[in-house]
Order: sequence, then C-alpha cells, then structure tokens
Amino acid sequence: MQTYTLHTHTVGFDGRDSVQAMVNRARDLGFKEIGISNHLIVNPIIRNTKMYPYAVKGGYSNIYSSSFEEALLRFEPHYHEILTLREQNPDMRILRGMEVDFFQDEKWLEGFYKTIQILKPDYIIGSAHFVEYNGTLLNAHDWKNADIETQDKLLEQYWINIASAAASGLFTWMAHLDLPKKVYLGLEDKWAEHESRAVEAIAKSNTAIEINTSGYKPYCYEPYPSMRILEMVKKNKVPVLISDDAHETKNIGRHFDEAEILVQQMRLKRLHKEK
Ligand SMILES: [Zn+2]
Ligand SMILES: [Zn+2]
Repeated sequence: MQTYTLHTHTVGFDGRDSVQAMVNRARDLGFKEIGISNHLIVNPIIRNTKMYPYAVKGGYSNIYSSSFEEALLRFEPHYHEILTLREQNPDMRILRGMEVDFFQDEKWLEGFYKTIQILKPDYIIGSAHFVEYNGTLLNAHDWKNADIETQDKLLEQYWINIASAAASGLFTWMAHLDLPKKVYLGLEDKWAEHESRAVEAIAKSNTAIEINTSGYKPYCYEPYPSMRILEMVKKNKVPVLISDDAHETKNIGRHFDEAEILVQQMRLKRLHKEK
C-alpha cells in the first residue's frame, strides 16, 4: 500500500484546509510523507477567461496569475510556511510541489525556469486544464457547452498539449491524463490514437503519470486515466504513482485501496520503489 500522497491542495489556493491540517490527517492515516502541490497557472490573459469570474466568486482566484512575479508572491510565503512545518513535524516528510499548467510559449518557458530556480520545488506535476481557442483560454469545464466540431478541436489540442508538456521534460509526472472525462468528453475509441501519442511522448521523456483517485465518481467509477490509457501506460513501461488530488483533509488517501489493487493486478511500474 502506498503510504504517501503528493498531489494535494491547501487553503490560500483552491484547497479548504491548512498545510498543518493536511499533515495531521496524513499522519493519522499512517502516511510517512505528504507533498503539497498547489496550482501554478500563469498566463497573461488568464483574467479574461470565462472561468475567472467563477474563481473570484468561489474564492480561489489565487490559483491564477497574470505573471510569474505575481505567482512568486504567492508561492514564496507558502513554501516558507512548509519549511517551518517541516521543522515542527519531524516525524513526517513534507515536500514542496506544484501543479503547473504548461503553455507552449517561449516567454512562458523563460518565466517558468526563473521561477523554479527561485522556488526550487521538490517535484513538479504537469497538467493542462486549459486549451487556447480563438484568442482565449477555455477550461475543460467550458468545453461541454461547445458544439461537437469545436469539442473535437479542443480535445485534439488538449492531447497535443499533454504530449508537448511531457516532451518538455519539466515534469516529474503528468496529472489526471484524461481530464476531459470529467465533462464526459474524449471517451470514444477514436481518441485512442491521440492518447497513445501522448503516452509515447511521456515514455520518451521519462515522465511518470498518476492514477488520480478523484476520478472515482458514482456516475463514472474509475480513476484518471481510463483502462484504455492504463494499457498504453503499461505497454510503454511508464511509471505510476497514486494521487488523491485532495482539496481537503477528508480526501487524503481516498480510494487508494482500489487504485492499489489496480496497480498490482496490472503489474504497473511504480515511480517510487523504495517507499
Ligand atoms: Zn488538476
Ligand atoms: Zn490537483
């Protein structure tokens, strides 16, 4: 059984609970290690997106920054707090991670490199919650209202983005690979070749993937990614870890037992053998 969790979110970003509360809960579950991976989503037009007003209303707009300078102002005190808590909780390994939205753009890359040189995260999770479309960024949640032709274009671009993110070699692992599933998109078999190209790019760049247990929902009881993708992951010997994507203490370790069975039955390669 995996006794650590590395994909978690805390208050001040879009989580509900403090870092200390998350550490306490992980300890109660018998975990030895927890990593905090709040969102680093930097794009100059992020405040013009359809999603942004909802984030303001919901009180989590801090996950969005127009510049890396702005993101640094949020991450520096946050990382400092984690260091302090590390000293106060010597029985737990507390890591500093981040979940990053990758944008294929030279300016973005330059800013990102500078930022990680300052912050020195222990690991970086790659993701794509947005796709550029018609001069704006559309969040996966917006895609469900688009017409079918547009949805197909968005999905195509999504898989290209995942492949380029992996190819950048910046990320320790890629998050929730088939994220569009949360709005019931990308389920048809015709997406298999797009998924396969992305998984091949992941394998080639020695990037891992997560089995994200936030996918287990009553209406779609499976993690991210689907079995179809997990078969490709196995074939390409891509290492995996189990993530809960916890946004509050009660999510820590959710469905880890089921995901563990999946990893063992499929004989998937693990990212961390020693833990
Ligand atoms: Zn995410
Ligand atoms: Zn997350």
